[in-house]
Amino acid sequence: MAVFRKHTPKRQEITINVLSYHEHKEDLQKDFQNRCGYCNDIKWGNAEFEIDHFVPQKPKNFKTTIGPTLYFNLVYACKSCNRAKGNKWVTNNENTANINDIGFIDPCDKEYNNQFERTETGRIVHKTALGEWMYKALKLHKPQHEIIWNIDLTNKLIDEIEKVLNYKPNEELSRKLLSIYKKFRNYTKQLGNIG
Ligand SMILES: [Zn+2]
Repeated sequence: MAVFRKHTPKRQEITINVLSYHEHKEDLQKDFQNRCGYCNDIKWGNAEFEIDHFVPQKPKNFKTTIGPTLYFNLVYACKSCNRAKGNKWVTNNENTANINDIGFIDPCDKEYNNQFERTETGRIVHKTALGEWMYKALKLHKPQHEIIWNIDLTNKLIDEIEKVLNYKPNEELSRKLLSIYKKFRNYTKQLGNIG
C-alpha cells in the first residue's frame, strides 16, 4: 500500500471581499497544488476543475451563515468529486462536518490523509469507517482516479529519466524514451478529449 497523498493542501488567509467565488480560482489552484482536494487527482490535459463549497451553499436541513465567497470554505475540486458531493451534508450544523463515522473531513485537515490509501497500482482504498462513507459519497472508486495517478507518475518518471540523460547522454536510450513519450502524450491527449 502507498500513502494517499504526500502533501496536505493549505489555504492562505484570504479575507478580501470578492463579488464571485470564481475570483478565488487561481489562489485555490495554487493552494491545492493543482490537485483536487478530495481525490488528489492532478489537473491535467483539458480537464476543467471547479470550486466546491465544503459546507454547501444550500444544505437540506438548515440555512448556512457562511457566505458563498468565503475562502476558508472553498475546495479546489475535479468535476467528478464536485458533482458527487453536491449538497451532501449529514448534520444540521455547519460546524459539524461528520458524526458517528458519517460525513466529511475538510481536505485541508491532516486527518483527511488518514482516511484513505493507495494500492500499488494507484487505486484509492478507504482505511476507516468515515473514509468508507466519503469513498462512496465522492465516488472515489471511479477508474479515472487510478488512471490519472498513473499518468502523473509516468510524467514524473519521464522527467527523471530525462534528467539522467542530460547528465549522462545515451543516444539509444534517448530514442526509446522519445518514442515512449510520444505514445504516452498521444494516449493522454485522447483521454483528455474524452473525459
Ligand atoms: Zn476529485
